[in-house]
Amino acid sequence: MNSRRHFIRCLSLSGAAMLAGPEAFAQAPMVDEKDPTAAALGYVSDASKADKAKYKTWAAGQACNNCQLFQGKPGDASGPCPLYAGKQVSSKGWCSAYAKKA
Ligand code: SF4
Repeated sequence: MNSRRHFIRCLSLSGAAMLAGPEAFAQAPMVDEKDPTAAALGYVSDASKADKAKYKTWAAGQACNNCQLFQGKPGDASGPCPLYAGKQVSSKGWCSAYAKKA
């Protein structure tokens, strides 16, 4: 590739990157179990560590990756959940808003 064409190509790629914004490169941070919303809903990054005495709806096998609200793809280690805007939940996590995926 000649240098002029290479220069133009790089320029267009960097322009596209600027339009995409930093979100395109940085994955959203994980939800902290101590975040107010997470604490209120009993979110844990490991479903087996849920407070079973407090949350009677908890059942073995429930996890974010089989919850209706989980927006990650099957097999993803984490993904967005609308209850924790701008953050990621662990696919193995759990909270009291769990709703079994249909
Ligand atoms: Fe996980 Fe579902 Fe709770 Fe979101 S609502 S944190 S996906 S269990």
